[in-house]
Amino acid sequence: MSPLIISGPCSAESEKQVLSTARFLVEQHVSVLRAGAWKPRTTPGHFEGYGEKALQWLAQAKAETGIKTATEAALPHHVEMCNRYGIDMIWIGARTTASPFAVQQLADAMRGMDTPVMVKNPINPDIHLWTGAIERFIASGVKVVAAVHRGFCVHGNTFYRYPPLWHIAKQLHQLMPDLLMIGDPSHMAGRKELVPTISRQFVRRGYDGYMIECHPMPSTALTDVSQQLDFNALAALLPLLKEVVSTETPDTLSQLRERIDDIDDRLLTLLQERMETVSELGTYKREHDMPASQPERFRSMLRQRLEWCDAHGMNEAFVKQLFELIQQESIRRQQQTPDNHQPSDI
Ligand code: PEP
Ligand code: MN
Repeated sequence: MSPLIISGPCSAESEKQVLSTARFLVEQHVSVLRAGAWKPRTTPGHFEGYGEKALQWLAQAKAETGIKTATEAALPHHVEMCNRYGIDMIWIGARTTASPFAVQQLADAMRGMDTPVMVKNPINPDIHLWTGAIERFIASGVKVVAAVHRGFCVHGNTFYRYPPLWHIAKQLHQLMPDLLMIGDPSHMAGRKELVPTISRQFVRRGYDGYMIECHPMPSTALTDVSQQLDFNALAALLPLLKEVVSTETPDTLSQLRERIDDIDDRLLTLLQERMETVSELGTYKREHDMPASQPERFRSMLRQRLEWCDAHGMNEAFVKQLFELIQQESIRRQQQTPDNHQPSDI
């Protein structure tokens, strides 16, 4: 079956924005228009969505173009309003999934409803919060429940806005093999340039659908301004997303390669985190008139790492070379002042 594509702006911002997006998506054969009517913001004082007005725009887009509509519900009265405006699919946001009482209230509000529910992974990397939320909706009789993998909040990371932590989604799929898995590269990426790369990683894993943010004029977006694709970029990405990958069990070679890709992804994320910490260290040293390179400290670090190798049966010569290379890059970073700071080119 070809993957379900859900696309549209992070937030519904105007009738014109919602309608023009709907028309474009229909032209592109995208079957579901997403747009947030209520936006749970991490900090107060920001745009929180147009609420009922946004639902009216979505209903209008559906009436005019026939496209299905989806929005986020975070409170029981949102569910009731979505019903009233004929919203076809509801998603549960990452911040809501992390809150069991909120999830239970939503599951109670959806009792007996036919609307499919898509449960985003919780903002924190805890698989039990994710499975727990899914179980609450299933227990309240929701007939179609899907999981949306949108990445997790991990301390200190900036390469991804929310790193994928593929192993958690994989574990979910193993625990609930019949659950539909939808990939959300937009929130993982946090910047539009990274959306195609992450999309390819999803496609390789054969997700059942994708949720991608797009906007007629991304630079003017009221929320998630950096990650929304313009229409041309979305059109360029769609052929990749519509690719159907084989559903046969991958052979051993592919499985091992997939595992290696996952591990490398985590290695790079950790390396990125290390380099950011090194930059902080560089700032501290500059403020305290200390040299970037401190050979005695490096010698003692290396000694500890090599002891670890000895205890764990790793090749010492390899690890020595690896840390010497990491050290070179660390010194380069520490010598950069904040003004000429370049993002890591790892
Ligand atoms: C969204 O889809 O725009 C959104 C707010 O999602 P999340 O809950 O994943 O942050
Ligand atoms: Mn968003």
